[in-house]
Amino acid sequence: MSVFKYEKDADGIVTVTMDMTGPVNAMNEEYRLAMDETIARLEAEQGLSGVVLASAKKVFFAGGDLNDLLAAQPGDEAAFMAEGERVKSGLRRLEKLPVPVVAAINGAALGGGFEIALACNYRVACDDRNVQLGLPEVSLGLLPGGGGVVRMVNLLGLEKALPYLLEGTRMDAAAALEAGLVHALVESQEQLVPAAKAWIVGQSDKADAGLQPWDRKGFRLPGGSVSSPQLAQLITVAPAMLRKKTRGLMPAPEVILDCAVEAARLDFDTALKIESRGLTWLAMTPVAKNMISTFFFAMNRVNRGGSRPPAVPPQSVTRVGVLGAGMMGQGIAYVSAMAGIEVVLKDISVEAAEKGKAYSEALLAKRVQRGKMTEEKKEQVLDLILPTASNDDLAGCDFIVEAVFENLSLKHKITRELEGQLAAGGVWGSNTSSLPITELAAASSKPENFIGVHFFSPVDKMPLVEIICGEKTSDETLARAYDYARQIKKTPIVVNDSLGFFTSRTFGTYLDEGVRMVKEGLHPVQVENMGKAVGMPVGPLAVYDEVSLELSIKAQATWEEMGELDKFGDGSVARDVINAMVGEHGRGGRHHGGGFYEYAADGSKAIWPGLLELYYQPGISVPEQDMRDRLLFRQVIEALRCLESGVLRTVDDGNIGSIMGIGAPPWTGGFIQFVNTYGVERFVHRCEDLAAAYGERFQPPAIARQKLAAGELFE
Ligand code: NAD
Repeated sequence: MSVFKYEKDADGIVTVTMDMTGPVNAMNEEYRLAMDETIARLEAEQGLSGVVLASAKKVFFAGGDLNDLLAAQPGDEAAFMAEGERVKSGLRRLEKLPVPVVAAINGAALGGGFEIALACNYRVACDDRNVQLGLPEVSLGLLPGGGGVVRMVNLLGLEKALPYLLEGTRMDAAAALEAGLVHALVESQEQLVPAAKAWIVGQSDKADAGLQPWDRKGFRLPGGSVSSPQLAQLITVAPAMLRKKTRGLMPAPEVILDCAVEAARLDFDTALKIESRGLTWLAMTPVAKNMISTFFFAMNRVNRGGSRPPAVPPQSVTRVGVLGAGMMGQGIAYVSAMAGIEVVLKDISVEAAEKGKAYSEALLAKRVQRGKMTEEKKEQVLDLILPTASNDDLAGCDFIVEAVFENLSLKHKITRELEGQLAAGGVWGSNTSSLPITELAAASSKPENFIGVHFFSPVDKMPLVEIICGEKTSDETLARAYDYARQIKKTPIVVNDSLGFFTSRTFGTYLDEGVRMVKEGLHPVQVENMGKAVGMPVGPLAVYDEVSLELSIKAQATWEEMGELDKFGDGSVARDVINAMVGEHGRGGRHHGGGFYEYAADGSKAIWPGLLELYYQPGISVPEQDMRDRLLFRQVIEALRCLESGVLRTVDDGNIGSIMGIGAPPWTGGFIQFVNTYGVERFVHRCEDLAAAYGERFQPPAIARQKLAAGELFE
């Protein structure tokens, strides 16, 4: 029996219900066979009046098989392209049937799923939370190669189609209706197929209703042809605008733009071929491999508990205590209340705690204003947060997150004072950004219940939580912290205790290398540009200003006290610069009246001229490729050192942590995945070259040499 169920009713309508082997319908060989067979049957069907395409799964259709995409290697192009063409010809035959074809969209139709729906004449979707539509291929370094680019351009016109293709926007059913991408909504799943059939029955001219706009005589592209003045201008400037965004590091958006313009210029079938070539080319690129490996596979493994002790049963937090209602505490309170958790938000005074709660109020008011939340729901969320200065209010919390000032003795004192308020078996989490968890846990009477939960600022926007296990942290505690992070919809990575954990330690090398370059006499603007050219969101000096030079001095003083200064490498070159900047020139960072940059009242900024006087030497130059590699390789090398020393427990955590916590360039797929596609051997050699030219800090980590000798990748 086919995995596509085929049923014809008394009205001559055939309902094809996709019910493939496995949990979802996906575009693999089973699909290709089932679709070929079904189309042939439909083409031969006597008395056919229409077709409804439906799904027996929760998801309408999941899209391309990413395992196949990942496996495709240079040299496989012809076979890869032929398979794609087979899928496309099936969809083309479907839309050329002389009767209307309706997609009955019951669940997510993303990527290939949406492309199938676009090949139907009419799309009816169920208006529920499971329905998501869109073409997110770009976020994996790919393009919608099942006709998605060509059909979207022909359906909406070039200008309107581009944002969907280039940004991979996901829509719910209502948004898709508004955008004209579905034609009707129904309220329940049961109404879906009947509504699809009713539409077919209502079409007096079936042959006409079965014609796609682009197959009609005299079809004109919506929004004007490529020679219209508006589109001609768009086509001229769009590549430059795109390049500014991608910095030339992301091939997918560029190829998508290319194919979309061709789709507007050429006949439908030729454009489909060009689109297939585009996908074939992209699928072979290292960038696509990196993005698929990390954004899809690693992300799923991490979020499904890859680093969570499996033997501990899942548990949810019902009452969380947040100590310190400052920048971090107020954000932690907000995300917890948004997840329906009761929050006790404690600071040294009720006023301070209330100020922390006001932060949630402001964020919620914005949601209401944007129509994303009702006033009633806002009040419900706010009611969950209790601002207080009283220790007793913490009684019965099953999780306490401490986010007071970064001070070891204060944190010790608070632990001793308040851990007794925890419910039996409750967990104590510290949001420290730099203090070792084992050291903090020394003040606890139950160090096995003590763990690091490192949030990133701003908490409501940053998706990562770095969970840090101290020496004595138990598996139960780790599992509880992991479950809490998932409960508040964050992605948790798990690392072992070490100075700066994984994220801060690795990120610190980016700042260090940037400052070293300034000290060498290179122009600070060039240094910043090289950071951005490699794909980091901002230059190292701008970031230093945000985290604050002052704070860095304080952290270094703490490490010195602990005898751990320069534990992972000589920081003295950068330290000299930072000490001079703060100590002699009063440049502590953005929130201290300026640092490497000067900040104008209108929000603009420019490099502080004093920096040039202090360090810039016009005669000094370093090849730009070296500058870029230095800024990138320092971070990659540090990530590998974290892996070899056991700070990182898995490669996945390293890749996800670097993307979501450090801002690693998406094209790398994370700092460890980068090495896989750069080539382990090439990486080791490049490290050796950089070490010879710029210093020992670039020596390849032992783990890279081991992988090279074993002929293995980092997995
Ligand atoms: P903050 O100065 O904004 O807030 C600290 C809050 O703690 C203040 O409101 C203060 O009144 C309160 N506090 C001090 N002593 C207290 C006590 N005894 N009881 C209750 N509350 C008390 O600091 P922050 O930026 O929110 O940082 C808090 C912690 O989070 C620090 O450990 C910091 O290292 C860490 N962290 C900060 C960031 C960041 O980007 N700011 C990122 C990750 C982690």
